[in-house]
Parts: sequence; C-alpha cells; structure tokens
Amino acid sequence: MIFFFGETPDGWGIPGIHGMLAEDELDGYVQGAVYLIRGDGENLLIDSGNWSLPEFNNGMGEFLIKLLDKEKNKLKYIFLTHFHYDHVGNADALKKRYGAEILCHPLDRPIIEDPLIVTRRENVTRFGLSPEELLADFNLEAGESLGLSDPEIIRRYWDFPVQVDRTVEDGDLLEVGGLELQTVHLPGHAPGQIGLWNPKTSTLYSADLLHYPTPLGPYPIGDAKAHSRSIQRSLELAPEFLLEGHGLSAYSKASSRRRLVHMQIQQQDTRNRILFVLRRFDRPSTILELLPEVLPIKTDLDYPVSTGIGEARAYAKACIQCHLVWLVEDGLVQRVKEDGKIAFLAKR
Ligand SMILES: [Zn+2]
Repeated sequence: MIFFFGETPDGWGIPGIHGMLAEDELDGYVQGAVYLIRGDGENLLIDSGNWSLPEFNNGMGEFLIKLLDKEKNKLKYIFLTHFHYDHVGNADALKKRYGAEILCHPLDRPIIEDPLIVTRRENVTRFGLSPEELLADFNLEAGESLGLSDPEIIRRYWDFPVQVDRTVEDGDLLEVGGLELQTVHLPGHAPGQIGLWNPKTSTLYSADLLHYPTPLGPYPIGDAKAHSRSIQRSLELAPEFLLEGHGLSAYSKASSRRRLVHMQIQQQDTRNRILFVLRRFDRPSTILELLPEVLPIKTDLDYPVSTGIGEARAYAKACIQCHLVWLVEDGLVQRVKEDGKIAFLAKR
C-alpha cells in the first residue's frame, strides 16, 4: 500500500483509506488516519494506524516509524480515538520505541487492552444488556455472533495486547509542549470514541464521527442518538479545520460545517428511510427484510469485523438496528414479537 502524509496546521497527517478507495474492505488494507501534533519539545500522536499479520502487512507500522524517527520532539502521548483495529494497530510497538503514554476513553479501554473481550459475555453485560437481549432484535440465538465473536477473526485483525497508561474523559485537558488540547467525547460510532480539540489552531480531530454508515456495532455498543448529539457538539465548536479518521478532511470553517451538516442529514435520511420503508411494508418487518432497501449499497460490503462480530456480516444490520432503537425511543416505531421473531412496525 502507498502511504502519503501532508502538513496540517498542527504537524502532519496520514489520510485514512476506507470505503471505495480501499483495495478490499474485508482485509487488512482498511486504514485509519494518523495525525501528529507538535508542541514545544513534545509531540502527541492521534491513533496508530492499522496492523495486520505478515501476509496482510500494509506497511503502516514501518511508515510511521520512519516519520516519527525524524521528529526532534519527544513523543509524549499516543491518543487512541476508539477501539477499532484500524486505529489502534502499532500502538504497543510505538509506545515501546518512543516511551509515549497511551491514552483512551474508559469505555473503549477494555477492548483496546483485550479485544478478545468481544468473545465474552462481559463485553455486552458491561453496557447493561445480556447477549441474548442484544441478539434478539436480529433474531439470533446466543452464540450466533453479533457481539460474541470468533476469536480467530479478532486475532487476525487486532494488534494486542496494548497496555493503556491512562484514560481521559470529556473536557480533560492534555498539556503537550505548551499546547492545551481538549478531549471531546464523541460517542455513537464507538461508546468511548474521543476527539481532540486544539483551540489554538481551531482544529478538531473528529475520529470516525463522519464515517457513514454509522454506528457499526449493535446498540448499546453503537448508539445512533448519541452519534447525532456528537455531531451537534462538534458543530458548536465551529472548527476551522476538521481532521477526519478517514477521508481527506476539511480546511475551512465553511467546509468543516458543511461536512458535519452533511453527516447530520445522512443520519436523518437513514432514520427517515427506515420509517418510509416500514410504512410502505405496512406490517411488522425484521431487520433482514429492511436491509436491502435501507442500505442497499452496503449489502455486499457488510463487514464481518468492525466490532469483532464473527462471521455474520453485521455492519449494516447493526446500523439499522441502532436507528430502530432510536425510533422506538422516540415513539415512532414499535417493537413487536410475532411467532417468536422480533419485528418492527411504524406507528400510525
Ligand atoms: Zn471506526
């Protein structure tokens, strides 16, 4: 894979390749963006790229080391925006090489430190649900994937163990060589997704806030309503520079705003499309029945691995379920049980 990096107002960034630009969504070539922020004598790295087994090695680890070796400043922090494998690879190797502290949000810490947690009940029960309850909306039995996954898939995609040094929460300030950087909790895409705000350059590092479709994991691991609030929160910061976890980012106030509003509308569209299809069907419908009409382009690209979900390709289904949970909460859709199956019905 060919990598390139570009100057940013704070240092440099490597754009994260995803979607149509990735050679194959289902192998190790999906890549999260990596950014460096330079302070006076100290640097902070945002995310650490993808890691993969030698047979899928895309070279990101080597590329990062080549760039970081040239830096005169000490690497103080590695700020992990969320637990997804394309953002946390190489973290342990970089920590050891440069002596940096690894930071993340407390909700994503358990998965970053031990991604095999997604094969155990506690990854669901820690959010207040049982795996059975989580799987019910998808009409799956316990052990039939979604949240309780195949360890082989986790071993192939995730780089671990990673020892997190410290957790950070919304509003926490990080001092990096005279800069004051603010942690912004942006849940939805992942429960512990965090962005970083540099008020000095009006730059928001927004992680995967602008990745569509989202959420990728079933509720409560993914949360469409929380995601909507996270977009609103970012709009209120009114960043001049919006540096994304995937894609080529925005370099003016107008462009940053346009991208955030666009994402807000896309999410609203997903919600409206579900309601529209449900009203047209005019009968209780399962997530599988809704899938081809709500997210038609994603049926072939449905991921098996985003939350370590097992062999069932669950990404698009999880996105629809998260929006359904939100619609049920808003009283627009009803969850019904028919012949032992969970289906959804638009309220009149
Ligand atoms: Zn992600």
